[in-house]
Amino acid sequence: AAPLVVARSTALAAKKGLLIRNRANFEEARKIQSVVFDKTGTLTEGEFGVTEIVTEQGYEKNDVLQVAASLESQSEHPIAKGIVEDAKKENVTLTDPEQFESMTGKGLKGTIDGKEVFIVSPGYVKDNNIEYQTEKFKELSEQGKTVVFVLIDNKLAGMIALADKIRESAERAISRLKEQNVESMMLTGDNAQVANWVAKKLNLDEVYAEVLPHEKADKIKEIKGNGLKIAMTGDGVNDAPALANADLGIAVGAGTDVAMETADVILVKSNPEDVVAIIDLSKATYKKMI
Ligand code: ADP
Ligand code: MG
Repeated sequence: AAPLVVARSTALAAKKGLLIRNRANFEEARKIQSVVFDKTGTLTEGEFGVTEIVTEQGYEKNDVLQVAASLESQSEHPIAKGIVEDAKKENVTLTDPEQFESMTGKGLKGTIDGKEVFIVSPGYVKDNNIEYQTEKFKELSEQGKTVVFVLIDNKLAGMIALADKIRESAERAISRLKEQNVESMMLTGDNAQVANWVAKKLNLDEVYAEVLPHEKADKIKEIKGNGLKIAMTGDGVNDAPALANADLGIAVGAGTDVAMETADVILVKSNPEDVVAIIDLSKATYKKMI
């Protein structure tokens, strides 16, 4: 009877939008004690809109937006899409970069009209001892906004604040996990203030912020080392190694191919609440087999 129950559960899961790619790990889902979520695109919509451009002396808002959007036009990051969209809205004309390079987890650099342009994370700015408007940065970050810094010819020209939306379904997912005594954690490359803002809104048990892409997988190992059985949920190329290291890797369906190829389960509807559905289904399926 057991294989029949399993086959039926696979069909049932597929109907609900849960694609099970690895049966053995799905069986373990009923024992998960902790779920680690990626932030951008998983707990949030992953759609950034520019809310504010703060310039340094000698720079106009639209000039900062022009170089930033020109460089970001070459990037697939959700931040890039938000900045390019804002330039369109403001009728700013973009220039093709003469040179372009992505610095994974830190930002971009390139050349626009002969000028050397960097768009980087707060972590990069701090590591390089670049002076910036700390109070303004703090104010924006504490509102949960993601801030990137624009440098032109090695001088800070301004910062761009972007807002993303928390998924309502994320709130429900986390409270339902809590009811089942499953902890929720967040892993993100974004800065600590933004991460804490989201964590507070969602009542998360643990937050790991400013984690570089190559460090995500190690972080999962470290958490597992505490003896926890964990699931990791993510959407990005950056998340794939972390998905592979978790006891159960869950990819969000709207995410990248790499994440989906690595995951044990794919959430077709990109709904974080479906993490709870997987755990429930695993419990129901394997209870019948004893
Ligand atoms: P996440 O874990 O949220 O997916 P990433 O690792 O992709 O984050 O990026 C971490 C940080 O690096 C971002 O919050 C941002 O500060 C910076 N960054 C990454 N890509 C870009 C980009 N295209 N433009 C500007 N900043 C970027
Ligand atoms: Mg992501």
